[in-house]
Amino acid sequence: MHGTMLAAVFEDEGRLAVREVPIPVVRGPHDVLIKIEACGVCGTDIRFLAVPPVIQARKGVILGHEYVGQVVEVGTDVLQFQPGDRVAVIPDLPCGRCQFCAEGRPNLCERMVSIGGDIDGGFAHYALAPARALYPISAELPAEEGAFVELLSCVLGGVQKAALLPGEDVVILGAGPAGLVYLKVLKTAGAGRVIMVEVSPWRIEFARRMGADEVVNPQKEDLRGAVRAITGKGAHVVVDAVGSQLTAAMSVARKGGRIIVFGEDHKAECTIRPQDIQGQELRILGSFIGIHLFPKAVKMLESGVVRFQDLITHRLSLTDLPAGIAELAAGHGAKGVCFPWLS
Ligand SMILES: [Zn+2]
Ligand SMILES: [Zn+2]
Repeated sequence: MHGTMLAAVFEDEGRLAVREVPIPVVRGPHDVLIKIEACGVCGTDIRFLAVPPVIQARKGVILGHEYVGQVVEVGTDVLQFQPGDRVAVIPDLPCGRCQFCAEGRPNLCERMVSIGGDIDGGFAHYALAPARALYPISAELPAEEGAFVELLSCVLGGVQKAALLPGEDVVILGAGPAGLVYLKVLKTAGAGRVIMVEVSPWRIEFARRMGADEVVNPQKEDLRGAVRAITGKGAHVVVDAVGSQLTAAMSVARKGGRIIVFGEDHKAECTIRPQDIQGQELRILGSFIGIHLFPKAVKMLESGVVRFQDLITHRLSLTDLPAGIAELAAGHGAKGVCFPWLS
């Protein structure tokens, strides 16, 4: 296929430019050209675009790593996909050869390449991806549900570590998209009470509507006391979906509780007392991406056991994308999804 397409390109610090670029061409034997149906806006995109950036994207790269679409063309060695198939992208490509890959922990790969950060992603009409980065989705799955698959697979990585038993109480710090996906998944998994912790008035209201049993604003009430008043002894499972809340997470965990550090904040530091971990036998578990959880995430979306569409507050065309991302970065909204063919 020839010609040009619209794409959202990371140009420089804080600058996402929507402009015409060439439609990518299938060259390698493992290349797959995909017509993008939908691509979620991730917290990572917001951190790429922060000034100064919190995480580095390569200049000139097309952002967007939470996409689903339809196969248009395949390279000569691609046997598992053919034009017309629908796919979701698994955006983090491990090298397959480093020690961590060899030990079965590809999420900790030392030479990871990320689609929509290091190489071109899905905020565009078309994207090129290697076949190994694609996973099939059904013809029936709505594109806007499909746009949640990557975030959901990451959340499932944390849920797996949390090993929640039905009835156990949960505290989720941060009611952004990740926190809200945790809310829905843990509720579905049989959590007892789920308490969310948030300071933004908009997000507090939204989290209530999405099914949080309680939302505590730590700027208005004592967090530890509020959680104890609801749960008695504290939460069995605590998720830090912000990335800077470990001290708060430890204060609301029950003795023997599990704390999942999920949010990514490269600058946050906190002070903790090791004795609180030792004496209360807290388990603090970091969670990054997840290992081989795409099939489970796709199955959950296809079965409809949990639905995420109501988390979408921003349905954006490519032209609307920069302004939409700025709004989401300011906390005025939950999940944004870009539909490149929307005009
Ligand atoms: Zn993401
Ligand atoms: Zn590796």
